[in-house]
Amino acid sequence: MLYKEPEDGEKIKFDKGKWIVPNKPVILYIEGDGIGPEITNAAIKVINKAVERAYGSSREIKWLEVYAGEKAEKLVNDRFPKETQEMLLKYRVVLKGPLETPIGKGWKSVNVAIRLMLDLYANIRPVKYIEGLESPLKHPEKVDMIIFRENTDDLYRGIEYPFNSEEAKKIRDFLRKELKVEIEDDTGIGIKVMSKYKTQRITRLAIQYAIEHKRKKVTIMHKGNVMKYTEGAFREWAYEVALKEYRDFIVTEEEINQGKPDQGKIILNDRIADNMFQQIIIRPEEYDIILAPNVNGDYISDAAGALIGNIGMLGGANIGDEGGMFEAIHGTAPKYAGKNVANPTGIIKAGELMLRWMGWNEAADLIEKAINMAIRDKKVTQDIARFMGVKALGTKEYADELIKIM
Ligand code: NAD
Repeated sequence: MLYKEPEDGEKIKFDKGKWIVPNKPVILYIEGDGIGPEITNAAIKVINKAVERAYGSSREIKWLEVYAGEKAEKLVNDRFPKETQEMLLKYRVVLKGPLETPIGKGWKSVNVAIRLMLDLYANIRPVKYIEGLESPLKHPEKVDMIIFRENTDDLYRGIEYPFNSEEAKKIRDFLRKELKVEIEDDTGIGIKVMSKYKTQRITRLAIQYAIEHKRKKVTIMHKGNVMKYTEGAFREWAYEVALKEYRDFIVTEEEINQGKPDQGKIILNDRIADNMFQQIIIRPEEYDIILAPNVNGDYISDAAGALIGNIGMLGGANIGDEGGMFEAIHGTAPKYAGKNVANPTGIIKAGELMLRWMGWNEAADLIEKAINMAIRDKKVTQDIARFMGVKALGTKEYADELIKIM
C-alpha cells in the first residue's frame, strides 16, 4: 500500500453538484514538479492557518499526499500510479502543484487525465486586480472577470493522430471516399468535437454561479461565424438552456437593445472569440463571467491574467458534479525550482477557491485579505519585487508573512 489514509478524517460527499463537507474532510494534495513542492507546501501552511484562525479546532483539513509526476516516477516508476488514481476516485478533491508535460512527444498530460477521470468539466478562473501590482492597463482596477472554460470537449479531447499513422490514413480515406473532401497525404488529424450535453452542463454551472454570487453578466465567447456546428452550436445551446431553465433570472443583450429593461437581471450576450481579446483589453469593465469552449477558454484565461500584471497570482478550479481539482494557472517554472524564489500566490489562491467551494468562506476571506495586504505593503516574491523596486521575500518567507498578517 502506497498510502495510509487519515483515520480521523471523512470524505467530502456530493449531492447533485452540492458539496457536503464534514468538519474534518480528507483532501488530497499532489506536490507537483519544478517549483511545485515549494509552492504547494507553502500553500498548505497558509490554508491550515486560515482554517485554524477562522474555526479554532472545530474544523481541520486532513491532508493526504498522493504522488504524481516526477516524484511518483522516482518512487514507483510510474507518473500516474494506480494507487493515486484510486485515491482520487475515492476522495475526489485535490490541491495540485503544476506537473510537467512535454510538447509533441512523451507521456500524456496527468493534468488532463485527472480532469477526465473525475469529469471535472468546468475550469473556473477568477481574474481580479490586486492593488499594487504592475499592470499593462491604465485602469487595471476595472478587471474583475471569471472565466468558465469547458474542460472536457473540443480539440483537447485528444482525438488526434500523426500524419503518418494508420489512423490518420483511415480518416483521410474516409473523408475522400465518403464525404468527397480533398485532403493532402501529409495531413495530421485532430478532431474538434462539441456536444450539446457538455455545453449545457457548463452553461448551467456558470449561470448558477452568476445567480448565487450576484454577478451581472454572462458572455458566451465563440467562433461560431466560422466553426458553425461546433462553436456556433455552443452559442446556440448555451442560449437555449439559459432561456429555458433560467428565464426569470436572465435578460439577453438583444432584448435590452429592443428596449426591454434589465430589471437587475443577469445580462446574457455573446462575442466572437477574436473580438473578445481586444474587448477585454479596451473595455475590461464590460466583462464579468465569460463562458467559453475549451480552446478559447484556454487562450483568453492567459490574456485576462496578463491584464492584472502577473499570471503567477492566479488560481483556478476544475469543477465537476462530484469533485474538484484546485491549482495555480502557471506551470512548473523549472528555472526557479528548489531556489525558494517562486511566487506561491497562484496555488494559495487556488486554495482560497477550494475553501469557497467547501463553503468555508471565513477562512477564504482571511487568505484573500492577507494577500491583498501583503501586496499593498510590498511584501512580495522576486517576480513582483523587481517591478516594485523592493527587496524580495523568499517563497517560505512570503508564506510566513501571510500567516503573520492573518
Ligand atoms: P510556466 O508557467 O512554468 O512559466 C512561464 C514563465 O512564468 C516562466 O518565466 C516562469 O519562470 C514564470 N513563472 C511561472 N510561475 C511562476 C511563479 N509561481 N513564480 C515566479 N515565476 C513564475 O510555463 P511554461 O514554461 O510554459 O511550462 C513549464 C512546464 O509546466 C511545462 O512542462 C508545462 O507543460 C507545465 N505546465 C503545467 C501546468 C499545470 O500543471 N496545470 C500548467 C501550465 C504549464
